[in-house]
Amino acid sequence: MALSTPLSQMSVALPTGLDGSSRSMIKVQSVSFTEKSCGSLLRLDSKSRSFNVKQRSTICMSLQQASRSKVSVTPLELEAPKETPLNLYRPKEPYTATIVSVERIVGPQAPGETCHIVIDHDGNVPYWEGQSYGVIPPGENPKKPGAPHNVRLYSIASTRYGDSFDGKTASLCVRRALYYDPETGEEDPSKAGVCSNFLCNAKPGDKVQITGPSGKVMLLPEDDPKATHIMIATGTGVAPYRGYLRRMFMENVPSFKFDGLSWLFLGVANSDSLLYDEEFAGYLKDYPENFRYDKALSREEKNKKGGKMYVQDKIEEYSDEIFKLLDNGAHIYFCGLKGMMPGIQDTLKRVAEERGESWEQKLTQLRKNKQWHVEVY
Ligand code: FAD
Repeated sequence: MALSTPLSQMSVALPTGLDGSSRSMIKVQSVSFTEKSCGSLLRLDSKSRSFNVKQRSTICMSLQQASRSKVSVTPLELEAPKETPLNLYRPKEPYTATIVSVERIVGPQAPGETCHIVIDHDGNVPYWEGQSYGVIPPGENPKKPGAPHNVRLYSIASTRYGDSFDGKTASLCVRRALYYDPETGEEDPSKAGVCSNFLCNAKPGDKVQITGPSGKVMLLPEDDPKATHIMIATGTGVAPYRGYLRRMFMENVPSFKFDGLSWLFLGVANSDSLLYDEEFAGYLKDYPENFRYDKALSREEKNKKGGKMYVQDKIEEYSDEIFKLLDNGAHIYFCGLKGMMPGIQDTLKRVAEERGESWEQKLTQLRKNKQWHVEVY
């Protein structure tokens, strides 16, 4: 693609699916580039096996040669409401949305499967970064015959503009829940998780009942564009941070020009289990002053005591810096499996004590200052 038009006036047709394959090219968006890097826009995940590298690199090379752009987003009215959108759709009257694409985003050596799922809500279920959608899987609730299944919550992994940058979609990052008999080690499909399997098996065009948006704890505070945000995730807990980071580094949002520090700690089993790694690596390359990214790969790396490397070991490694940043008002976020919290809290408590501080007092203060954000499940 030759660039005869100045970049600021140019539009590029992009597939909305992760891999550019025809299966996920349900909708093609016209995206105009105005400021910075296209690298991170298209750098999604090379582990999607059918990734259309030729198409991707053609667009990227041309744009990078001309300028590094941020993506224009619409409609900007999504910036306007002062009140957080909350529970626009409830379980009794859910919104029927449509699946746009479902992509496996982990490599072959990852234990388990995680999918990136784009849902078209046609602009009818607006949300802010850090909120969740509820999903009601089809079928009958086994505990209440005749009634629908209970709602399952999923953190939204896109910004309010969605992966198509037009405010019409929301993306989820869903781990397929499987059940293995503890005695035989055999998988028992009759006990597989209902909703996660429904979502991971969904096909473009399928209908999905959604509720929400819900949650305020993980909203991104935007009053200070120079603030520090320390984001700690295990597995799919990375979902809300993908939204934050796209808003900070990928999208051209006139009312939010981030110029602070964003520091992501991501804990997963091995390198094949990393989620959105290329997207994050792109920010590291394009915004080295504003982004830090540390990974803990429990099955591939050892901590300093020779044990498995968990996210709390990374926190310990950087504890001095983290405590200083917290003392200077940094926000700290935790998202992912419930089991991550005790280990992290123990580490923070030990570090506080080594520094001669009371962790209980510090935690109370962080909560009071609204610096402490936890959403674990
Ligand atoms: P369910 O059908 O509810 O089953 C739950 C578990 O029980 C499964 O592991 C299943 O295998 C097991 N099970 C089923 N039957 C039996 C049995 N007879 N005996 C023993 N075990 C059994 N998840 C994500 O993947 N991504 C997210 O971003 C995400 N965000 C969340 C945000 C919030 C605020 C909350 C509260 C939760 C979030 N979750 C997220 C978790 C999600 O809501 C679901 O709990 C998860 O997907 C499992 O739901 P399911 O319907 O697949 O499993």
